[in-house]
Amino acid sequence: MEFGIPRTLYAEEHEIFRETVAQFLVHEVLPEYDKWEQEGRTPRDIWLRAGNVGLLSTSIAETYGGSGGNFLYDAIVIEELGRYGVAAPAWDMHAYIIAPILSAFCSDKQKKEWLPKMAAGEVIAAIGLTEPGGGSDLKEISTSAKPDSDSFIINGAKTFITNGHIADYILLAAKTEPELGAKGVTLFWLDLSLPGVSRGRNLNKIGNKAQDTAELFFDDVRVPATSIVGGINNGWKVLIHGLAQERLVVAVRSIVIAEAAVDQTIAYTKGRKAFSQTVFDFQNTQFKLAEMTAKIEAGRPFIDRCIEHHAQSGLSPVLAAKAKLWATELADRVLDECLQLHGGYGYMWEFPIARAWADARVHRIYAGTNEVMKYIIARDL
Ligand SMILES: Cc1cc2nc3c(=O)[nH]c(=O)nc-3n(C[C@H](O)[C@H](O)[C@H](O)COP(=O)(O)OP(=O)(O)OC[C@H]3O[C@@H](n4cnc5c(N)ncnc54)[C@H](O)[C@@H]3O)c2cc1C
Repeated sequence: MEFGIPRTLYAEEHEIFRETVAQFLVHEVLPEYDKWEQEGRTPRDIWLRAGNVGLLSTSIAETYGGSGGNFLYDAIVIEELGRYGVAAPAWDMHAYIIAPILSAFCSDKQKKEWLPKMAAGEVIAAIGLTEPGGGSDLKEISTSAKPDSDSFIINGAKTFITNGHIADYILLAAKTEPELGAKGVTLFWLDLSLPGVSRGRNLNKIGNKAQDTAELFFDDVRVPATSIVGGINNGWKVLIHGLAQERLVVAVRSIVIAEAAVDQTIAYTKGRKAFSQTVFDFQNTQFKLAEMTAKIEAGRPFIDRCIEHHAQSGLSPVLAAKAKLWATELADRVLDECLQLHGGYGYMWEFPIARAWADARVHRIYAGTNEVMKYIIARDL
């Protein structure tokens, strides 16, 4: 169904691109998806094919192998991934979270070396912030980076790392001056084939099953100082900027997933019979769907304005936290209600609503938990 007030942020060229993305997902991704879920990872080949049609470089500048668009193009890919229930490959992490950080904070030399390969899907990226001891309090990370002539020696462990098995490089947060707390964090673009790096098992998740998620260990890993991103002891500043976009990415995906769930549920309940009428005919079903539709329609213009504003001038961390908090809580409630309206079939993995419910549950947890979002918002009141 058409949700709410007509959207105004996209022009014709955006919709043409959306069609390209949708066709790619339908023909290249969906037929393979069950297999990837069973294998717990996505093959490199699909990254290369996505790179080839420009899905991984939407907002990377043309000088660095991208198509020179802006966040509107990123948002289109994120929306189509959400609409088709495609939680993996984790292109959002690679192309719409990590690549923009590198674009904003790297030197021209670094960007020329790193971004074209990411745009082409030849290099797969991960980000390493969370540690086994904790993820919410990023200031407390204990992975260390000690200077040694023109290099740094990294020691520590990261966990829950998306693309942890298939990634070639990781944007790694480490403490260069632990006594400075948050001001002593530095980001490194670390080659995961370096001696001293090891990867743990592929973690067994309740959703996002085609995404590999792993623990990574760093044992005296020597990285050149030229791999520092955004300057020494500047990691916290870079992350505040980068995490705002990550939170918006999650918000964009969440509201589309909620819209798709309502669409699926309307179709399902109109076709399913109980007590000699369709499930849709029950007033309870109609009231639930009416409430969900009204909530989604009321929030859609807010998310659209966030997308537009971010593309123009960058969303503040507080607004990004509000968008993430609001959209993920809404999606969570909508998915649960929609699953319920599917009855037992809603619990079966082959039904899109079951997958969406399991996949989207993590949206309230990662990119900073929703409790952390409330802190960010409250600090600004
Ligand atoms: C599928 C998946 C993929 C992920 N991908 C990545 C990745 O690619 N890279 C990466 O670095 N991390 C990744 N993460 C980690 C994710 O960002 C963390 O799980 C998240 O930030 C929470 O950290 P934690 O798990 O250590 O929870 P904890 O920090 O232990 O929190 C536990 C609970 O306590 C609450 N809590 C914590 N502090 C407070 C407080 N001050 N007040 C109130 N409540 C509080 C939290 O909100 C939460 O409910 C991923 C996680 C998952 C599940």
